[in-house]
Amino acid sequence: MSQQTQAKTFEVEKIRKDFPILNREVNGYPLVYFDNAATAQTPKQVMDAIVDYYSNYNANIHRGVHSLSQEATDKYEEARIKIQKHFNAEKAHEIIFTSGTTHGINLVANGFSSILKEGDEILVSAMEHHSNIVPWQMLCEKTGAKLKVIPMDLKGELIYAEFEKLISSKTKLVFLNHVSNALGTVNPVKSIIEKAHSVDAAVLLDGAQAAPHIKADVQELDVDFYVVSAHKMCGPTGVGVLYGKEEWLEKLPPYQGGGEMIATVSFEKTTYAGLPHKFEAGTPNICGGIAFGAAIDYMNEIGFSEIAAYEHELLEYATAKLKEIEGMKIYGEAAEKTAVISFNIEGLHPYDIGTLVDKMGIAVRTGHHCAQPVMDFFKIPGTVRASFSFYNTFHEIDLFIEAIKKAKMMLK
Ligand SMILES: *Cc1c(COP(=O)(O)O)cnc(C)c1O
Repeated sequence: MSQQTQAKTFEVEKIRKDFPILNREVNGYPLVYFDNAATAQTPKQVMDAIVDYYSNYNANIHRGVHSLSQEATDKYEEARIKIQKHFNAEKAHEIIFTSGTTHGINLVANGFSSILKEGDEILVSAMEHHSNIVPWQMLCEKTGAKLKVIPMDLKGELIYAEFEKLISSKTKLVFLNHVSNALGTVNPVKSIIEKAHSVDAAVLLDGAQAAPHIKADVQELDVDFYVVSAHKMCGPTGVGVLYGKEEWLEKLPPYQGGGEMIATVSFEKTTYAGLPHKFEAGTPNICGGIAFGAAIDYMNEIGFSEIAAYEHELLEYATAKLKEIEGMKIYGEAAEKTAVISFNIEGLHPYDIGTLVDKMGIAVRTGHHCAQPVMDFFKIPGTVRASFSFYNTFHEIDLFIEAIKKAKMMLK
Protein backbone atom coordinates (compact mmCIF):
# COMPACT_ATOMS: atom_id res chain seq x y z
CA MET A 1 0.00 0.00 0.00
CA SER A 2 1.40 3.44 -0.81
CA GLN A 3 1.80 5.90 2.03
CA GLN A 4 -1.00 8.07 0.64
CA THR A 5 -3.62 5.30 0.60
CA GLN A 6 -2.49 4.08 4.01
CA ALA A 7 -2.66 7.61 5.41
CA LYS A 8 -6.08 8.05 3.87
CA THR A 9 -7.59 4.84 5.19
CA PHE A 10 -6.11 5.66 8.57
CA GLU A 11 -7.68 9.16 8.59
CA VAL A 12 -4.82 10.79 10.39
CA GLU A 13 -6.06 14.32 9.63
CA LYS A 14 -9.34 13.58 11.36
CA ILE A 15 -7.47 12.12 14.34
CA ARG A 16 -5.20 15.16 14.57
CA LYS A 17 -8.26 17.37 15.17
CA ASP A 18 -8.67 15.59 18.52
CA PHE A 19 -5.29 16.95 19.67
CA PRO A 20 -5.43 20.75 20.10
CA ILE A 21 -1.72 20.94 20.96
CA LEU A 22 -0.79 19.80 17.44
CA ASN A 23 -2.01 23.17 16.14
CA ARG A 24 0.49 25.24 18.06
CA GLU A 25 3.69 26.74 16.83
CA VAL A 26 7.10 26.41 18.45
CA ASN A 27 9.76 28.99 17.70
CA GLY A 28 7.71 30.25 14.77
CA TYR A 29 7.25 26.81 13.17
CA PRO A 30 4.35 24.35 13.36
CA LEU A 31 5.01 21.89 16.16
CA VAL A 32 6.30 18.48 15.09
CA TYR A 33 6.05 16.31 18.16
CA PHE A 34 8.37 13.29 17.96
CA ASP A 35 8.91 12.70 21.67
CA ASN A 36 6.03 10.30 22.10
CA ALA A 37 8.11 7.68 23.90
CA ALA A 38 8.62 10.19 26.74
CA THR A 39 4.98 11.20 26.94
CA ALA A 40 2.12 11.12 24.45
CA GLN A 41 -0.23 14.01 23.72
CA THR A 42 -3.75 14.16 25.09
CA PRO A 43 -6.90 14.10 22.95
CA LYS A 44 -9.95 16.27 23.67
CA GLN A 45 -11.92 13.18 24.70
CA VAL A 46 -9.55 12.64 27.65
CA MET A 47 -9.53 16.34 28.54
CA ASP A 48 -13.35 16.26 28.49
CA ALA A 49 -13.33 13.39 30.99
CA ILE A 50 -11.08 15.46 33.28
CA VAL A 51 -13.27 18.58 33.01
CA ASP A 52 -16.40 16.47 33.53
CA TYR A 53 -14.95 15.00 36.72
CA TYR A 54 -14.06 18.37 38.27
CA SER A 55 -17.22 20.06 36.95
CA ASN A 56 -19.73 17.45 38.01
CA TYR A 57 -18.71 14.82 40.55
CA ASN A 58 -15.40 15.62 42.25
CA ALA A 59 -15.50 13.71 45.57
CA ASN A 60 -13.48 11.21 47.55
CA ILE A 61 -14.21 7.61 46.74
CA HIS A 62 -15.08 4.44 48.69
CA ARG A 63 -15.87 6.53 51.77
CA GLY A 64 -18.92 8.74 51.54
CA VAL A 65 -22.53 7.71 51.61
CA HIS A 66 -23.40 10.85 49.68
CA SER A 67 -24.27 10.80 45.99
CA LEU A 68 -21.18 12.54 44.60
CA SER A 69 -18.90 10.12 46.38
CA GLN A 70 -20.94 7.24 45.03
CA GLU A 71 -20.77 8.60 41.48
CA ALA A 72 -17.01 9.14 41.68
CA THR A 73 -16.55 5.63 43.09
CA ASP A 74 -18.65 4.12 40.30
CA LYS A 75 -16.73 5.97 37.58
CA TYR A 76 -13.36 5.05 39.11
CA GLU A 77 -14.33 1.38 39.34
CA GLU A 78 -15.70 1.49 35.79
CA ALA A 79 -12.28 2.72 34.66
CA ARG A 80 -10.64 -0.20 36.46
CA ILE A 81 -12.91 -2.58 34.56
CA LYS A 82 -12.13 -0.87 31.23
CA ILE A 83 -8.43 -1.35 31.94
CA GLN A 84 -9.01 -4.95 33.06
CA LYS A 85 -10.83 -5.71 29.80
CA HIS A 86 -8.19 -3.94 27.73
CA PHE A 87 -5.37 -6.07 29.12
CA ASN A 88 -7.67 -9.09 29.42
CA ALA A 89 -7.01 -9.62 33.13
CA GLU A 90 -9.20 -12.34 34.58
CA LYS A 91 -10.35 -10.28 37.57
CA ALA A 92 -10.86 -6.54 38.15
CA HIS A 93 -9.06 -6.69 41.50
CA GLU A 94 -5.91 -7.84 39.72
CA ILE A 95 -5.68 -4.26 38.41
CA ILE A 96 -4.00 -1.99 40.99
CA PHE A 97 -4.00 1.74 40.35
CA THR A 98 -0.55 3.26 40.78
CA SER A 99 1.10 6.59 40.06
CA GLY A 100 2.80 4.99 37.03
CA THR A 101 5.25 2.37 35.89
CA THR A 102 7.94 3.37 38.39
CA HIS A 103 5.50 3.03 41.28
CA GLY A 104 4.28 -0.36 40.02
CA ILE A 105 7.81 -1.76 39.79
CA ASN A 106 8.74 -0.45 43.24
CA LEU A 107 5.60 -1.97 44.72
CA VAL A 108 6.53 -5.42 43.39
CA ALA A 109 10.24 -5.07 44.27
CA ASN A 110 9.33 -4.06 47.80
CA GLY A 111 6.96 -7.02 48.10
CA PHE A 112 9.66 -9.45 47.05
CA SER A 113 12.00 -8.24 49.77
CA SER A 114 10.10 -10.48 52.17
CA ILE A 115 10.19 -13.45 49.77
CA LEU A 116 13.76 -13.53 48.42
CA LYS A 117 16.64 -15.08 50.31
CA GLU A 118 20.38 -14.87 50.02
CA GLY A 119 21.60 -16.85 47.02
CA ASP A 120 18.40 -16.31 45.01
CA GLU A 121 18.88 -14.76 41.60
CA ILE A 122 17.08 -12.10 39.62
CA LEU A 123 17.49 -11.67 35.87
CA VAL A 124 17.09 -8.33 34.13
CA SER A 125 17.69 -7.46 30.49
CA ALA A 126 20.57 -5.32 29.27
CA MET A 127 18.17 -2.80 27.74
CA GLU A 128 16.22 -1.68 30.79
CA HIS A 129 14.96 1.74 31.77
CA HIS A 130 16.53 2.95 35.04
CA SER A 131 13.18 2.45 36.73
CA ASN A 132 13.52 -1.27 35.99
CA ILE A 133 17.09 -1.53 37.28
CA VAL A 134 17.42 0.56 40.42
CA PRO A 135 14.51 -0.97 42.42
CA TRP A 136 15.97 -4.44 41.82
CA GLN A 137 19.43 -3.33 42.90
CA MET A 138 17.88 -1.98 46.08
CA LEU A 139 16.04 -5.28 46.53
CA CYS A 140 19.30 -7.23 46.10
CA GLU A 141 21.04 -5.06 48.69
CA LYS A 142 18.24 -5.76 51.15
CA THR A 143 17.96 -9.51 50.57
CA GLY A 144 21.39 -10.69 49.42
CA ALA A 145 19.90 -11.89 46.14
CA LYS A 146 22.04 -11.55 43.02
CA LEU A 147 21.23 -9.52 39.93
CA LYS A 148 22.25 -11.02 36.58
CA VAL A 149 21.98 -9.36 33.21
CA ILE A 150 20.67 -10.93 29.97
CA PRO A 151 22.98 -9.49 27.30
CA MET A 152 22.00 -8.09 23.90
CA ASP A 153 23.66 -7.97 20.50
CA LEU A 154 24.56 -5.01 18.30
CA LYS A 155 21.17 -5.02 16.60
CA GLY A 156 19.62 -4.39 20.01
CA GLU A 157 18.10 -7.85 20.39
CA LEU A 158 18.41 -9.95 23.53
CA ILE A 159 20.63 -13.00 23.12
CA TYR A 160 18.16 -15.77 23.90
CA ALA A 161 20.84 -18.46 24.16
CA GLU A 162 22.54 -16.45 26.94
CA PHE A 163 19.23 -16.13 28.75
CA GLU A 164 18.87 -19.91 28.62
CA LYS A 165 22.32 -20.24 30.16
CA LEU A 166 21.61 -17.75 32.93
CA ILE A 167 18.27 -19.11 34.06
CA SER A 168 18.35 -21.86 36.69
CA SER A 169 16.55 -23.15 39.73
CA LYS A 170 18.13 -20.22 41.63
CA THR A 171 16.24 -17.73 39.45
CA LYS A 172 13.24 -16.40 41.35
CA LEU A 173 12.36 -13.41 39.18
CA VAL A 174 12.83 -12.19 35.64
CA PHE A 175 12.26 -8.52 34.84
CA LEU A 176 12.35 -6.95 31.46
CA ASN A 177 10.66 -4.42 29.28
CA HIS A 178 8.16 -5.65 26.73
CA VAL A 179 9.48 -2.92 24.40
CA SER A 180 12.72 -0.98 24.93
CA ASN A 181 12.26 2.77 25.20
CA ALA A 182 15.80 3.48 24.00
CA LEU A 183 15.85 1.14 20.99
CA GLY A 184 12.24 0.23 20.23
CA THR A 185 13.05 -3.50 20.35
CA VAL A 186 10.04 -5.74 20.94
CA ASN A 187 11.33 -8.52 23.17
CA PRO A 188 10.33 -12.21 22.75
CA VAL A 189 8.42 -12.08 26.01
CA LYS A 190 6.23 -15.11 25.47
CA SER A 191 9.11 -17.56 25.23
CA ILE A 192 10.95 -15.83 28.08
CA ILE A 193 7.88 -16.19 30.30
CA GLU A 194 7.48 -19.87 29.41
CA LYS A 195 11.12 -20.57 30.15
CA ALA A 196 11.00 -18.64 33.44
CA HIS A 197 7.91 -20.54 34.54
CA SER A 198 9.66 -23.83 33.84
CA VAL A 199 11.96 -23.04 36.80
CA ASP A 200 9.11 -21.46 38.84
CA ALA A 201 10.45 -17.91 38.45
CA ALA A 202 7.97 -15.04 38.31
CA VAL A 203 8.08 -12.54 35.45
CA LEU A 204 7.43 -8.81 35.56
CA LEU A 205 7.07 -7.02 32.25
CA ASP A 206 7.58 -3.27 32.05
CA GLY A 207 4.89 -2.50 29.52
CA ALA A 208 5.31 1.30 29.58
CA GLN A 209 6.68 1.45 26.06
CA ALA A 210 4.63 -1.43 24.64
CA ALA A 211 1.19 -0.32 25.83
CA PRO A 212 0.86 2.61 23.38
CA HIS A 213 1.42 0.30 20.40
CA ILE A 214 0.60 -3.28 21.38
CA LYS A 215 -2.52 -4.54 23.09
CA ALA A 216 -1.02 -6.98 25.58
CA ASP A 217 -3.16 -9.91 26.71
CA VAL A 218 -1.89 -10.78 30.18
CA GLN A 219 -3.65 -14.15 30.28
CA GLU A 220 -2.37 -15.18 26.88
CA LEU A 221 1.15 -14.09 27.87
CA ASP A 222 0.67 -15.82 31.23
CA VAL A 223 2.73 -12.97 32.72
CA ASP A 224 2.81 -12.56 36.51
CA PHE A 225 3.07 -8.76 36.63
CA TYR A 226 2.58 -6.11 33.94
CA VAL A 227 3.10 -2.39 34.62
CA VAL A 228 2.14 0.65 32.54
CA SER A 229 1.82 4.45 32.74
CA ALA A 230 -1.25 6.28 31.41
CA HIS A 231 0.72 9.23 30.04
CA LYS A 232 2.43 7.12 27.38
CA MET A 233 -0.98 6.13 26.02
CA CYS A 234 -2.79 9.47 25.71
CA GLY A 235 -3.78 9.66 29.38
CA PRO A 236 -2.61 12.05 32.11
CA THR A 237 0.68 11.89 34.01
CA GLY A 238 0.88 10.51 37.54
CA VAL A 239 -1.36 7.49 37.05
CA GLY A 240 -0.86 3.95 35.79
CA VAL A 241 -1.65 0.38 36.70
CA LEU A 242 0.03 -2.71 37.95
CA TYR A 243 -1.54 -5.95 36.79
CA GLY A 244 -0.67 -8.87 39.03
CA LYS A 245 -1.94 -12.42 39.10
CA GLU A 246 -4.24 -12.78 42.07
CA GLU A 247 -2.10 -15.48 43.70
CA TRP A 248 0.96 -13.19 43.58
CA LEU A 249 -0.88 -10.10 44.81
CA GLU A 250 -2.24 -12.16 47.72
CA LYS A 251 1.30 -13.29 48.55
CA LEU A 252 2.97 -9.85 48.47
CA PRO A 253 2.74 -7.66 51.59
CA PRO A 254 1.24 -4.14 51.28
CA TYR A 255 3.60 -1.44 50.04
CA GLN A 256 2.32 1.63 51.85
CA GLY A 257 0.26 1.88 55.00
CA GLY A 258 -2.59 4.34 55.33
CA GLY A 259 -6.28 4.92 54.77
CA GLU A 260 -8.23 2.78 52.32
CA MET A 261 -5.89 -0.24 52.60
CA ILE A 262 -7.07 -1.56 55.96
CA ALA A 263 -9.90 -3.76 57.15
CA THR A 264 -9.61 -2.92 60.87
CA VAL A 265 -7.10 -0.82 62.79
CA SER A 266 -6.22 -0.82 66.46
CA PHE A 267 -2.93 0.02 68.13
CA GLU A 268 -2.37 -3.68 68.78
CA LYS A 269 -3.06 -4.99 65.32
CA THR A 270 -4.21 -3.88 61.89
CA THR A 271 -5.69 -6.23 59.36
CA TYR A 272 -5.43 -5.37 55.70
CA ALA A 273 -8.14 -4.86 53.18
CA GLY A 274 -8.56 -7.31 50.32
CA LEU A 275 -7.44 -6.71 46.74
CA PRO A 276 -7.12 -4.24 45.16
CA HIS A 277 -7.40 -1.92 48.18
CA LYS A 278 -4.52 -3.55 50.03
CA PHE A 279 -2.18 -1.82 47.57
CA GLU A 280 -4.10 1.44 47.22
CA ALA A 281 -3.38 3.35 50.41
CA GLY A 282 -4.63 6.92 50.66
CA THR A 283 -6.75 8.96 48.29
CA PRO A 284 -5.74 7.93 44.77
CA ASN A 285 -5.53 9.99 41.58
CA ILE A 286 -9.29 9.56 41.08
CA CYS A 287 -9.63 11.88 38.11
CA GLY A 288 -6.44 10.42 36.60
CA GLY A 289 -7.78 6.87 36.82
CA ILE A 290 -11.04 7.90 35.15
CA ALA A 291 -9.13 9.80 32.44
CA PHE A 292 -6.93 6.74 31.89
CA GLY A 293 -10.11 4.78 31.20
CA ALA A 294 -11.15 7.45 28.67
CA ALA A 295 -7.73 7.24 26.99
CA ILE A 296 -8.05 3.46 26.65
CA ASP A 297 -11.50 3.92 25.10
CA TYR A 298 -10.11 6.51 22.72
CA MET A 299 -7.24 4.32 21.53
CA ASN A 300 -9.45 1.25 21.17
CA GLU A 301 -11.88 3.23 19.07
CA ILE A 302 -9.07 3.91 16.60
CA GLY A 303 -7.92 0.29 16.96
CA PHE A 304 -4.56 -1.07 18.09
CA SER A 305 -3.87 -3.10 14.96
CA GLU A 306 -4.65 -0.01 12.81
CA ILE A 307 -2.35 2.07 15.04
CA ALA A 308 0.47 -0.49 14.82
CA ALA A 309 0.19 -0.80 11.02
CA TYR A 310 0.21 2.96 10.48
CA GLU A 311 3.09 3.57 12.90
CA HIS A 312 5.07 0.83 11.19
CA GLU A 313 4.70 2.69 7.87
CA LEU A 314 5.96 5.86 9.57
CA LEU A 315 8.91 3.95 11.00
CA GLU A 316 9.92 2.42 7.66
CA TYR A 317 9.56 5.72 5.86
CA ALA A 318 11.62 7.68 8.42
CA THR A 319 14.28 4.96 8.71
CA ALA A 320 14.83 4.91 4.94
CA LYS A 321 15.01 8.73 4.75
CA LEU A 322 17.40 8.99 7.69
CA LYS A 323 19.70 6.37 6.19
CA GLU A 324 20.20 8.60 3.15
CA ILE A 325 21.97 11.13 5.39
CA GLU A 326 25.73 10.73 5.38
CA GLY A 327 27.29 9.73 8.70
CA MET A 328 23.96 8.40 10.02
CA LYS A 329 24.14 5.63 12.61
CA ILE A 330 20.91 4.09 13.86
CA TYR A 331 20.99 2.20 17.17
CA GLY A 332 18.52 -0.61 17.51
CA GLU A 333 17.68 -2.48 14.34
CA ALA A 334 15.79 -5.38 15.80
CA ALA A 335 13.61 -7.34 13.41
CA GLU A 336 10.61 -6.45 15.53
CA LYS A 337 10.49 -2.86 16.78
CA THR A 338 8.04 -0.09 17.53
CA ALA A 339 8.20 3.38 15.96
CA VAL A 340 11.29 4.57 17.84
CA ILE A 341 14.51 5.62 16.09
CA SER A 342 17.64 6.29 18.12
CA PHE A 343 20.49 7.72 16.10
CA ASN A 344 23.64 9.79 15.93
CA ILE A 345 25.39 11.59 13.12
CA GLU A 346 29.10 11.05 12.98
CA GLY A 347 31.07 13.88 14.57
CA LEU A 348 28.00 15.63 16.01
CA HIS A 349 26.73 15.68 19.57
CA PRO A 350 23.10 14.54 19.95
CA TYR A 351 22.36 17.51 22.21
CA ASP A 352 23.41 19.99 19.49
CA ILE A 353 21.17 18.30 16.94
CA GLY A 354 18.24 18.27 19.37
CA THR A 355 18.71 21.95 20.20
CA LEU A 356 18.88 23.03 16.56
CA VAL A 357 15.85 21.07 15.38
CA ASP A 358 13.89 22.49 18.32
CA LYS A 359 14.58 25.93 16.86
CA MET A 360 12.69 24.61 13.82
CA GLY A 361 9.70 23.46 15.90
CA ILE A 362 10.66 19.79 16.17
CA ALA A 363 10.57 18.01 19.53
CA VAL A 364 12.89 15.01 19.83
CA ARG A 365 14.61 13.55 22.84
CA THR A 366 18.37 13.63 23.31
CA GLY A 367 20.49 11.96 25.96
CA HIS A 368 20.63 8.54 27.55
CA HIS A 369 16.82 8.06 27.73
CA CYS A 370 17.06 6.74 31.30
CA ALA A 371 18.92 3.74 29.90
CA GLN A 372 22.59 4.45 30.58
CA PRO A 373 23.62 0.78 30.37
CA VAL A 374 22.32 0.73 26.77
CA MET A 375 24.46 3.78 25.94
CA ASP A 376 27.49 2.21 27.64
CA PHE A 377 26.97 -0.91 25.55
CA PHE A 378 27.21 1.11 22.33
CA LYS A 379 29.99 3.26 23.88
CA ILE A 380 28.16 6.53 23.27
CA PRO A 381 27.04 9.31 25.65
CA GLY A 382 23.55 9.35 24.19
CA THR A 383 21.45 9.49 21.04
CA VAL A 384 18.84 11.59 19.33
CA ARG A 385 15.56 9.73 19.63
CA ALA A 386 12.56 10.33 17.40
CA SER A 387 9.49 8.39 18.46
CA PHE A 388 6.27 8.43 16.49
CA SER A 389 2.63 8.14 17.38
CA PHE A 390 -0.48 7.47 15.33
CA TYR A 391 -1.20 11.21 15.06
CA ASN A 392 2.12 11.92 13.32
CA THR A 393 2.31 12.22 9.53
CA PHE A 394 4.64 11.49 6.62
CA HIS A 395 4.78 15.24 6.00
CA GLU A 396 6.11 15.79 9.53
CA ILE A 397 8.83 13.24 8.83
CA ASP A 398 9.78 15.19 5.72
CA LEU A 399 10.04 18.38 7.83
CA PHE A 400 12.15 16.49 10.36
CA ILE A 401 14.54 15.15 7.70
CA GLU A 402 14.97 18.66 6.26
CA ALA A 403 15.64 20.04 9.74
CA ILE A 404 18.23 17.35 10.44
CA LYS A 405 20.00 18.15 7.18
CA LYS A 406 19.99 21.88 8.01
CA ALA A 407 21.28 21.23 11.52
CA LYS A 408 24.04 19.06 10.10
CA MET A 409 25.16 21.83 7.73
CA MET A 410 25.15 24.39 10.53
CA LEU A 411 27.22 22.18 12.83
CA LYS A 412 29.85 21.07 10.35
C1 LIG B 1 8.58 5.81 30.59
C2 LIG B 1 9.07 4.51 30.98
C3 LIG B 1 9.18 4.15 32.33
C4 LIG B 1 8.85 5.09 33.44
O1 LIG B 1 7.51 5.50 33.43
P1 LIG B 1 7.02 6.56 34.52
O2 LIG B 1 5.68 6.99 34.02
O3 LIG B 1 8.03 7.67 34.50
O4 LIG B 1 6.98 5.87 35.83
C5 LIG B 1 9.63 2.88 32.62
N1 LIG B 1 9.97 2.02 31.66
C6 LIG B 1 9.89 2.32 30.35
C7 LIG B 1 10.28 1.30 29.32
C8 LIG B 1 9.44 3.58 29.96
O5 LIG B 1 9.36 3.88 28.66
